[in-house]
Amino acid sequence: MAEVLVLVDHVDGKVRKTTSELLTIARRLGEPSAVFIGSGFDAAKETLAKFGAAKVYRVESPDVLGHLIAPQAELLAQLVGSASPAAVLIPSNAEGKEIAARLAIKTESGLITDAVDVKPREGGGVATTQSVFAGSYTVEATITKGTPIVTVKPNSAAPEEAPAAAADEVVDFAPSEAAKSARITESKEKQATGRPELTEAAIVVSGGRGTSGDFAPVEALADSLGAAVGASRAAVDAGWYPHTSQVGQTGKQVSPQLYVACGISGAIQHRAGMQTSKTIVAVNKDNEAPIFELVDFGVVGDLFKVLPQATEAIKAAKG
Ligand code: FAD
Repeated sequence: MAEVLVLVDHVDGKVRKTTSELLTIARRLGEPSAVFIGSGFDAAKETLAKFGAAKVYRVESPDVLGHLIAPQAELLAQLVGSASPAAVLIPSNAEGKEIAARLAIKTESGLITDAVDVKPREGGGVATTQSVFAGSYTVEATITKGTPIVTVKPNSAAPEEAPAAAADEVVDFAPSEAAKSARITESKEKQATGRPELTEAAIVVSGGRGTSGDFAPVEALADSLGAAVGASRAAVDAGWYPHTSQVGQTGKQVSPQLYVACGISGAIQHRAGMQTSKTIVAVNKDNEAPIFELVDFGVVGDLFKVLPQATEAIKAAKG
């Protein structure tokens, strides 16, 4: 069976859910081989095997540690040359898309970004599905040149453990000189919020322009629920919350069990990033706000009154 390379998304060996999703998809296409670049492989090993990585290409060289784009693209190009995989799957985040674009140029291959599904294609190759224009259209496509390279959006597949534990083959892979073209000389740790990662959280509480820049009640509610904090583009553009927290068409796609939209009108571009959430709750003072068209529960009211009350009630219920 042909190998399918999956670029592992991790922080010091803590594997992100997107990788389990990609390995699940890769098993439909061939035999998954994980490509682990960076440090902390021991922490990642078990998860990679559990989700079906039959082989792991490990690059723990200090020359390519960290999340540098150019060395990762070069390493993948080396692997595509030596392993001739059936496809390469890469997480569809800003870093992944840049790596994929460079890899496509280096290997003279076709690239599809932001796929929401990847299947084997009759007659060989892969068939992908993309959801475009905020979910208005579904595009089916296939790659006809080189090694298919596909970036896959988070939450495109439910991670499924492999029926049998995968073989534990680890291949240490030496980076070429070209892959050592850049290296990180210093990195400062980001202040940890203690909150879950936005795309992986079971609960997301998001704030919009209705917060007027005060995210304290949104954060307090999120913390009472153990949730991640998201933001609309209006809030991000105003500089009230970091761009990495933006939910929507040009932000992150989330699909949590519970999504709470606070002071967010429900523009189509925002919906594109959260409408697949299992339960949607909105707090908005305008009872005609479009967000109320897609909610399971809606609260018409001022978020500065509703959110603190909800937070207190949740804390009291938890004891
Ligand atoms: P508004 O639309 O201004 O809504 C604010 C809401 O808060 C209103 O409904 C108001 O009634 C309510 N409110 C006000 N005060 C209170 C209060 N005290 N209590 C309760 N409710 C209150 N947007 C995204 O979010 N994500 C994207 O990825 C994204 N990508 C885009 C891509 C393109 C190409 C374009 C053109 C736009 C994109 N947008 C995106 C922007 C989008 O069109 C909207 O402008 C944006 O989502 C609006 O953000 P908002 O709901 O916070 O603000």
